[in-house]
Amino acid sequence: MGGNRKRISRRAFVGGAGIGAAALTGASAMSGLGLQAQPRTAATRPAKWDLEADVVVVGSGACGLPAAIRAVDQGASVIVVEANYDIGGHGIINGGQVPLGGGTSAQKKHGIVDSPDILFRDLTDWSVVETNGMPEYRFNDRGVQRALADNEAAAYEFLLDNGVRFADMPPGVQGGHAIGISAPRENYAIWDKGQSAESPRGGGGTVVYRALENSAKKKGVRFLLNHHMDVLFRETPSSGRVLGLKAHYSPKFLPGSTTPLKPFRSDGVLTMTARDVTVRARKAVIIATGGSSSNVNFRRVFDPRLTEEYQVAGEPYSSQDASGELAGMAIGASLWGTANQTLERNGALRKRPVIGAQHIYPEWTPRSPVFPLVRATGLHVDDWQNLILVNQASRRFYDETAEGWPYGTHHGFLDPYVQGDWRNGRRITYKPQNFLDAALAPNEGSQPPDYSAGPIWAIFDADAVTREKWDLSPPATDPLFFFSAHTLAELAPQIRKNPFSRVDLPVRNLEATVARYNQIVDFGYDPDFEKPNPKYKIQTPPFHAAWATPVVHDTYAGLRINMKCQVLDVSGQVIPGLYCGGESAGGCSQHGQGRAITQGFIAGKEAAHERSST
Ligand SMILES: Cc1cc2nc3c(=O)[nH]c(=O)nc-3n(C[C@H](O)[C@H](O)[C@H](O)COP(=O)(O)OP(=O)(O)OC[C@H]3O[C@@H](n4cnc5c(N)ncnc54)[C@H](O)[C@@H]3O)c2cc1C
Repeated sequence: MGGNRKRISRRAFVGGAGIGAAALTGASAMSGLGLQAQPRTAATRPAKWDLEADVVVVGSGACGLPAAIRAVDQGASVIVVEANYDIGGHGIINGGQVPLGGGTSAQKKHGIVDSPDILFRDLTDWSVVETNGMPEYRFNDRGVQRALADNEAAAYEFLLDNGVRFADMPPGVQGGHAIGISAPRENYAIWDKGQSAESPRGGGGTVVYRALENSAKKKGVRFLLNHHMDVLFRETPSSGRVLGLKAHYSPKFLPGSTTPLKPFRSDGVLTMTARDVTVRARKAVIIATGGSSSNVNFRRVFDPRLTEEYQVAGEPYSSQDASGELAGMAIGASLWGTANQTLERNGALRKRPVIGAQHIYPEWTPRSPVFPLVRATGLHVDDWQNLILVNQASRRFYDETAEGWPYGTHHGFLDPYVQGDWRNGRRITYKPQNFLDAALAPNEGSQPPDYSAGPIWAIFDADAVTREKWDLSPPATDPLFFFSAHTLAELAPQIRKNPFSRVDLPVRNLEATVARYNQIVDFGYDPDFEKPNPKYKIQTPPFHAAWATPVVHDTYAGLRINMKCQVLDVSGQVIPGLYCGGESAGGCSQHGQGRAITQGFIAGKEAAHERSST
């Protein structure tokens, strides 16, 4: 199948061997892969330090900003080292739904009963599983959960004290994943400014993280932007306390520009453009680098199916390249709680209602300052009846209308819910929901060495475009992720231009799949995948193929930490002077910023109370 055409191989793109305009575009589509952090070995401490502070935080997102503020609040001097051109990480592009419970003032105000004990038992409840049978809380580290439960309410008040404003409404459940089910715990930051320079994409996360940035800067935190931490130093390469780090200059450019992107606000930002910068941490380093989903080799440790075609939420604004984990592991840190990353739960991998672009989570607008990197908004799918989804063998594989992930186990999931009760399992309405498994399955197009499933393509016709009211022209669609042709036979070979396509979409299969689907529409019943009431034939040219490959959402396993967020080595011993929180830390199944904020809140205080190294 299509393997002998002369072309620049996918791996050559990764290695940067592309030539000519098309190759460059392809290379930019693959850039997240080319920049992946690599495994490291322990390094000898540097002869000199370029910068110095009591506490050095790596990453300025949902964990890093609270960690920095908390440390400075305790009297420590703080430098935040950030790889990106601006502050905020995934936090600033998120939806602003902040899960924090355990008895917050918002919960109390609205008569919601919650406490650290209730929250702790929720977050370790073995008896609750998602509707696909996957356990949400069973594999959590109990100490890490106890620390979360004990600190969440205080972390909520800390956000208020540092200028974060939430909607004056009862905490709810919308957007909450693995936050426990005894009480509603989701708090909502309100974003009402539309798209502005203040935010890379609009949304509630901007409210939270610009407020924290302002507070941190007022309190004296300094930010070293455009610097990617690669190496941590201990007293000897693999023993003793952590003394500091090395970061390399990593400016971000828009295509065709030689001027690095600039942060929204430049006050409090240290200006250094040296290739390598060493930063001494007199007391501690806090790893808040946001996880590992963008690093294909690293993420495949947990799920070998996740080969390079699966794009990652948050890119190309900020990336989760496992650099915190790799630097920690190089000096002896242990990974932890890896089951949480492997289990198919909590929307770790998602079908998105957006097609025809590479970066489909979040939905970007052309007004975003990083839009030239995003390149296309994608087409929002209102009705999955308007298309079929095919794999690289041109075969349908599941009911297209199926949900992309199971229903989350938040408040209201079970009624009644009794913590730890064996009867809970009987009250759950199970639904297999294997859409993603079918999408990731090897097929006729799979090839050695990975036998990867390859991209998923949405196939539809001109009538579907009319029904969905889509404007197909760029910037709605990306020419490398969206193709059109007058016939299916002409459409299939075009798809090979996509940099993640390993094989030609087999024309004969595609024609047969569409013919079979049109027959199914005539039947009014889908004997192959039981799509409910299949409605529309695919018959009116032009025909279209739009990228519809599932997206990796976030990381649920990382470095082993204790209740103080100190990093532990493979013998369970504390690595002195090293802390971690957020998506780079293991032991917690919870999605999102609640745990990141709380662990930053814990780590910042603890790090500030370390003794100073001489
Ligand atoms: C589109 C989207 C919507 C979301 N919506 C929600 C929501 O509504 N509610 C919710 O709770 N969660 C949401 N999340 C998840 C939430 O934003 C993340 O879980 C959270 O931001 C993780 O915090 P973190 O500090 O671990 O990582 P991040 O916030 O991503 O911060 C990590 C930072 O570290 C930097 N960094 C990485 N490596 C290095 C390095 N080597 N050197 C220096 N800096 C480095 C990164 O550039 C980044 O700025 C959403 C995520 C996305 C992508």
